[in-house]
Amino acid sequence: MSEFKTVRGMRDFLPEEAKTMRYIENTTRKVAELYGFKEIITPVVESYELLAAKSGEEVRSRMFAFKDLGDRQIALRPEFTASVARLVATTLRNEPRPFRLFSVGSVYRYDEPQKGRYREFWQSNYELMGSNRAEADAEILMLTNSLMEKAGLKSYAFKVGHVGVLRSMFKQEKLNEKAQNQAMQLMDKKLYDDAFNVIREAGASTQCLDGLNQLVKLRGTEIVDVVAKMKECVKDYEQSINAVENLSEILNLVSQCGCKINIIVDAGFARGLEYYTGMIFEVFVPDLDIALGGGGRYDRLIELFGGESTPAVGVAHGIDRIMLALQEQKVKSAKGPERRVVVIPINEKLRVEALKFACMLREAGVSTEVEVMGRKMAKALEDADKRGMDFALIVGEKELKEGAVVIKDLKEREQNTVQIEKILEAIKIQ
Ligand code: AMP
Repeated sequence: MSEFKTVRGMRDFLPEEAKTMRYIENTTRKVAELYGFKEIITPVVESYELLAAKSGEEVRSRMFAFKDLGDRQIALRPEFTASVARLVATTLRNEPRPFRLFSVGSVYRYDEPQKGRYREFWQSNYELMGSNRAEADAEILMLTNSLMEKAGLKSYAFKVGHVGVLRSMFKQEKLNEKAQNQAMQLMDKKLYDDAFNVIREAGASTQCLDGLNQLVKLRGTEIVDVVAKMKECVKDYEQSINAVENLSEILNLVSQCGCKINIIVDAGFARGLEYYTGMIFEVFVPDLDIALGGGGRYDRLIELFGGESTPAVGVAHGIDRIMLALQEQKVKSAKGPERRVVVIPINEKLRVEALKFACMLREAGVSTEVEVMGRKMAKALEDADKRGMDFALIVGEKELKEGAVVIKDLKEREQNTVQIEKILEAIKIQ
């Protein structure tokens, strides 16, 4: 029989990586709690129709879609937002606003596998629905910053823009929807010349093309300065000016509350997904050319799913990519248990006693293994040493008769006979 392998684009996580992944996942949960987001668990499998309703062509064409045995057209979720929107448009329809909903889990996209790009990957997703105010946008930016900070990342930055700036120009120019979407997608890929061609062909004026040409070159960390220049570029487009003002209000809120976020305002920043209506952003690490998370405002999404008009802003973070960034930055953030103990009986007859000591230690919250290979003491100790255990609790007949055990400190290389009631103390103090 041939050797089995994982399916292309799928990975195994061995203990070290699994620990880091779970550590980041736990951090996403802590951040959700801190910001008042409630966790919901939705199915990995949804109807194709639901998942396709909102996704742009790009995500749609990369879905793991198939028919189940009941001939239903289904797919593995490529992200969480469609499932959350389904809930908000149905089961949660009459619940008071705003919704603060959090999900974490695996998502699936038929992407071309490469560094930081997998077909199964993990996201944490936060949706704040029901508010169109700048505070809500600011909360999503700040929450993302908290997550990166708590995960232990050393250097990262936010790229922030506003789709309303470009969209409103296109609208005022009366460009058709298809050309608008196409141009945004091309700009997302930084194919600016192609984007210009599309809007030129769709009938954009020279004034629009000039403005756009300036916008795509405009970016910087001096927020006030960039915002002023953006306004200048779109001065003949009223709705675009409103969009710049909205962006400026959000960023002012973030900076005025003392949150130190490294922000680059990027006037030509476009995210390909068609449903964004307002502020958009991505978090990235300078030395890694991939985004660790991205999100923005999408005010018409819930309507699209048949719900009542509900403004919304949200973000999805790539847990695998946060791990990758931590590895690149050599951050060791996932701590193991404080102390690891192995319990070794001196002979077979003391197996039950050994198991009992293990139970007692676990009861006290100490990570404990029992020697299960029936090895001789020297071999068992050698193995414990190799695996970096801290203590060996040796169960011997002679000591037991005196109400004691032997505790060997594998790091300090010393051993003592310890009364049973003093075991915990010995493990903590030694
Ligand atoms: P998106 O839903 O496309 O906005 O993606 C949100 C985040 O998910 C991105 O910023 C990445 O961190 C992560 N992500 C997207 N696609 C992949 C992938 N194929 N593999 C790993 N992470 C991904």
